[in-house]
Amino acid sequence: MEQEAKEHKLASAGTFCPIKECQLYAQVDEGNIIKFGKSKQGVQRYRCKSCATTFSATRGTLFYRKHAPPKDILETLALLAEGVRISSLSRAKGFKEDTILGWLREAARHSEAVQEALMGHYEVSKAQVDGLWAYVGNKGQKGAIAKRGRMPGNSGAAP
Ligand SMILES: [Zn+2]
Repeated sequence: MEQEAKEHKLASAGTFCPIKECQLYAQVDEGNIIKFGKSKQGVQRYRCKSCATTFSATRGTLFYRKHAPPKDILETLALLAEGVRISSLSRAKGFKEDTILGWLREAARHSEAVQEALMGHYEVSKAQVDGLWAYVGNKGQKGAIAKRGRMPGNSGAAP
């Protein structure tokens, strides 16, 4: 069943080819990705039938949306991370500021996966990615720490 109501969702690794040079780069559900065993660490590996590259499930997660190709979304987020203003991006890319903010919020909800994708595909630093999350009020990595600290009665126990 199609989830038309969802504006954008993450495409998980194994549904698209993360290789920029590939003909099917970032094309979701084209049937070009097959499972290809597991790494020593037990991470699922995949192979793209189009470019014959193998990659692991940690190689990136993209989100996709009906009206914007994943690479546009990621590229926009990368530029944002580099300090380009949303208003400028909106004009340059032709997406509404609200649309871009929506991507950013969705990205922040999947901060680890998106960070992986941004740092893997673009020249974006960790600090710049953190800046992105700060932009939408998500603490990013700090949020992950807070999650750990949420254990009741366990705060302050860390060394
Ligand atoms: Zn490929």
